[in-house]
Amino acid sequence: MAIRRNPTRSVRIGNISVGANHPIAVQSMTATHTTNIDATVELVNDLQSAGAAVVRIAVDSDKDAEALAEIRKQTTANLSVDLQENYRLAEKVAPHVDKIRYNPGHLYHHEKSKPWQEKVRYLAGVAKDNDCAIRVGVNCGSVDPDKKSKFDHADSISPMIESAIEHCEQLDALGFDRYVVSLKDSDPTKVVEVNKRFALLRPDVPLHLGVTEAGLPPDGIIKTRIAFEQLIGRGIGDTIRVSLTVPNNKKRQEIQSGQEIIDDIYAGRLRSVVALNPSQLNIISCPSCSRVENEAFVELAQQVKEMTNYAKDYAITIAVMGCRVNGPGETDDADLGLWCGPNRVNLKRRSEPLGAFTYEEILGKLRTELDQLIEEKKVKA
Ligand code: SF4
Repeated sequence: MAIRRNPTRSVRIGNISVGANHPIAVQSMTATHTTNIDATVELVNDLQSAGAAVVRIAVDSDKDAEALAEIRKQTTANLSVDLQENYRLAEKVAPHVDKIRYNPGHLYHHEKSKPWQEKVRYLAGVAKDNDCAIRVGVNCGSVDPDKKSKFDHADSISPMIESAIEHCEQLDALGFDRYVVSLKDSDPTKVVEVNKRFALLRPDVPLHLGVTEAGLPPDGIIKTRIAFEQLIGRGIGDTIRVSLTVPNNKKRQEIQSGQEIIDDIYAGRLRSVVALNPSQLNIISCPSCSRVENEAFVELAQQVKEMTNYAKDYAITIAVMGCRVNGPGETDDADLGLWCGPNRVNLKRRSEPLGAFTYEEILGKLRTELDQLIEEKKVKA
């Protein structure tokens, strides 16, 4: 299949480049605790041997930053650091990585009185001084509140685009062009829409594609494939990540399925005529990362999928998230949402909190709420 790629500029990330017709780079992210250096090194090396062009690692504390320095010494993969709330850790981690990912929607958490433009100036300066690229990573579950308040609640796409565009303009104004952008949602149709609209406005900016919280295989791969076929087939997308909820010893599946999707698209083996069936049960779950509050998260996501199978013919969305960073926001749009804490799991019905329950209790509580939702749907039918 002849694909004419968007004329994006070339952005170097360690020993690879993305954009400007370079091969589409497949990425993944570690879900070990970053302070567990041995386990993280092992996972980085495993992902690299599976073909990962870049491996991302989450850092939220000084301890994580110290561990990252040690992980760098023991690995050769291109590394990206994922900074969410604590962007000020950038200068501690930049010497040890090839790219810095920051989330515009989380910049306001620290130094609330400091304008975001100054925070981006700081990040660009640190990246420049340490030979790093930057990813402006906009995520539907944590969009800049200022942007969200400007648009109708039903329009989740415009605030994401406006946030990304203004960060691009700030980086351009700073003379920093070694950046890529990502615009992720857990709904593949929204991922297609938001990236298409952004690419029309900024065809020069390389895009990192991903369906966030795509969930457990095979559903997570199918959702991702639907979005990627529509975008990469149109020449949109320069690097990708398939976010799967799998144990760490199966994390390489993200790389294998990502490369397979790219190869299939270029070979014209398209499968996304199969539209997602909105009248069926939809489970979204995050791929986990260093921030996961309890190792039991992946198993819990699998148990939720098994336990809720009896409700597969109901148009209900259940979200299962690993921690409080994206958990609360991402679960707002789901009919029922679970986000994990160290000892308890928070249960929500849309944005209404229903309480925090032990890992032993949560499936029973979820079942009760699901049964009630089904009864309400039967009455309405
Ligand atoms: S929800 Fe939390 S644990 Fe899951 S991927 Fe996002 S930050 Fe990591």
